[in-house]
Amino acid sequence: MLIAYKYRMYPDERQREMFLKHIGACRFVYNLSLERKIKAYETDKTTLSCYNLNAMLPDLKKEFEWLTEVNSQSLQQTNRNLDSAFTRFFREKKGFPKFKSRKNPLQTFGIPQHYKVDFDNNRVKLPKIGWIKTKLSRQFNGISKTATVSMTATGKFFISILVDDGRETPEKEPFGYDSTIGLDVGITDFVTMSDGTKIDNPKFLRGSIQRLNVLQKRVSQKKKGSKNRDKAKYQVAKQHEKITDQRKDFLHKVSSKAVSDNQAIAIETLNVAGMMKNHCLAQAIGDVSWSEFFRQLEYKCEWYGKTLLRVGQFEPSSKICSVCGSINDDLKLSDREWTCAGCGTFHDRDVNASINIKKFALQDQNLIGVIAPGGTGEEPVGDVIDG
Ligand SMILES: [Zn+2]
Repeated sequence: MLIAYKYRMYPDERQREMFLKHIGACRFVYNLSLERKIKAYETDKTTLSCYNLNAMLPDLKKEFEWLTEVNSQSLQQTNRNLDSAFTRFFREKKGFPKFKSRKNPLQTFGIPQHYKVDFDNNRVKLPKIGWIKTKLSRQFNGISKTATVSMTATGKFFISILVDDGRETPEKEPFGYDSTIGLDVGITDFVTMSDGTKIDNPKFLRGSIQRLNVLQKRVSQKKKGSKNRDKAKYQVAKQHEKITDQRKDFLHKVSSKAVSDNQAIAIETLNVAGMMKNHCLAQAIGDVSWSEFFRQLEYKCEWYGKTLLRVGQFEPSSKICSVCGSINDDLKLSDREWTCAGCGTFHDRDVNASINIKKFALQDQNLIGVIAPGGTGEEPVGDVIDG
């Protein structure tokens, strides 16, 4: 299984400069390659492969001599990354690869091989840069693959090392009605589960976001180009990073528990844009959180042999009665609770939605009978069935 290990790096002044050179060169090559790919396609409908683009690197180095100062494998890795960005675009039909900006909060470059990790002396050796002081907190066993160095907006450096630990992905455990949980993510509560559990966004996160708004206002009050504006911007970046860390921590706790407590987890493919209308503070909390949460669920399910079931967005899951299948067309966004006209069940809006997500996911797996709108849902079959 592939696992990524991330460590903080402490480069000295010269090494920091080399990091920045690598970041700049990789961004430059990435953007140039992207431009060339687009042009080639527009002019004669040809597709430049990663191999084609890498073959152009030697000429590029003659033209831009400063590129020779950086590790050529990092430049080749950049073209591979661009290739994967296109693969994702074609496979998932979203997000055409974007040009990289020096203003992106996270700047990176890859090191595909020939780096060394020295756990005894807390240092990592990178080609063309040398030994860099690194806090190697956790030791890993296995074959190290690609490493990526990243720089945050506040100038911190990290290295992320992909390790193949040699273990096979565990077999999927069987699941049934009672061992599956449905999750409904939302704005009021971060997640509501089909067993009735509700998890709110932590209060400290709200506080941190309010503080961010204050800091952002300060930037706009400072004169453009002034030192004070730079300082205010740095404070904003620092607060951003704090929020990202806090949020990740929170999401890890929730996703780990959901995965360890259940054999299968059902989620709904989200229309984030639709959900976000008129929710400014919620947007700051929500947008990244949901996709990051689903990402964590996905890989943790892989790790522990659990199953992640995704259902498409069908009839709004909140409007269907999870007991009898009646549809409540009068349900407004502001209604947090409602009583079903068909069977008289009193529903909590989000709990009902999460039960529906679970039911629809299990229907897709043929694990329960179809709930016809307006009809009666069949009782779940069996407890444990091979997924
Ligand atoms: Zn009903």
